[in-house]
Amino acid sequence: ITSRLPAVGTTIFTVMSALAAEHKAVNLGQGFPDFACDPALVDQVTQAMQAGHNQYPPMPGVPALREAVATKIEALHAHQYGAADEITITAGATQAIITAILAIVHPGDEVIVLEPCYDSYVPNIELAGGVAVRVPLTPGTFRPDFAKISAAITPRTRAILINTPHNPSATVWSRADMLALQDLLAPTNILLISDEVYEHMVFDGAQHESASRFPGLAARAFVVSSFGKTFHVTGWKVGTVVAPAPLMAEFRKVHQFNVFTVNTPVQYGLARYLANPAPYQDLPAFYQRRRDLFRAGLQNTRFKLLPSEGSYFQCVDISEVSDLNEADFCQWLTREVGVAAIPLSAFYGEGFDQRVVRFCFAKQDETLHNALKRLQSL
Ligand code: PMP
Ligand code: GLN
Repeated sequence: ITSRLPAVGTTIFTVMSALAAEHKAVNLGQGFPDFACDPALVDQVTQAMQAGHNQYPPMPGVPALREAVATKIEALHAHQYGAADEITITAGATQAIITAILAIVHPGDEVIVLEPCYDSYVPNIELAGGVAVRVPLTPGTFRPDFAKISAAITPRTRAILINTPHNPSATVWSRADMLALQDLLAPTNILLISDEVYEHMVFDGAQHESASRFPGLAARAFVVSSFGKTFHVTGWKVGTVVAPAPLMAEFRKVHQFNVFTVNTPVQYGLARYLANPAPYQDLPAFYQRRRDLFRAGLQNTRFKLLPSEGSYFQCVDISEVSDLNEADFCQWLTREVGVAAIPLSAFYGEGFDQRVVRFCFAKQDETLHNALKRLQSL
């Protein structure tokens, strides 16, 4: 068979989790929590099942959940999305992103991605027949370079994909960054896909600058989020996409033939759970404590800590610890030291090596201490 994705193998997250399991390593590779979600959320979903909410929901999602999402975004970002025609519930952010791309990208269209980027973006663009135009984030700081982004725009540019807080670098776009993007896109028809799955994991008192806060961006944006990240239930695979009605109409044309609908009782459960803002309001402090614990543990090692402004990731420079390239280092670390990490090269098109690896700190204290003990031995 002639592959549609000849350059694509198995995603690094699957590879490293399998290796971690094989070697009984502490898995700080793939990003997922190792602690339980709020039992109240499980109760809400269980009650929805028991109440008989077990058949197909409406195609765009359970209305009560779409309304709860509209209320939340309005409270946080002062932007009104219509629950009826501007919000769709998706099978995680992954499906939201590929569906948005399939809905807007015509064969030959260019889509700008900022490298390093999440590993699904480029294959998604290629499956749509588009051309991924890779623009590097500033080496070392991973900040957006608007001169480079501007230089990458051509008459074929259909969309730009951004991600803040950023996986893998853990940088967070500032208000100035978002305003610069808004200015850059203002004279164009370029659409925006804003991957904001880590929206509630922003540290040190900073604020998440959602594209929905900026009218010039919101008017052209699909804004994507994930309940899996926010409520510690990555295995539920439920997310959201919001966009202006004409964009959402195109999204739903694809969504209906892509997944059609998303798990009904989970949607009912989430709709009720969202009535209380505390769980996501508490998230910055919840993860900042884990970040600080993990950073403190690496402080006196030869790992060089990069900033972690948001997300649940901590990147470290390994050049003082090992001569291996970062991909080989992650293999070695998993097999020989018993800690799994993800090489940043997995987020680049070419096997780019900057001797930086990513750890996920969405773990119980005991797990982090266990990993730190091993890392401190290096
Ligand atoms: N985008 C980014 C940046 C992510 O890190 C993830 C989760 N790994 C996703 C999208 C996918 O989220 P979901 O699990 O909701 O599909
Ligand atoms: N988003 C998670 C990460 O970056 C993993 C999701 C996945 O395994 N595809 O680690």
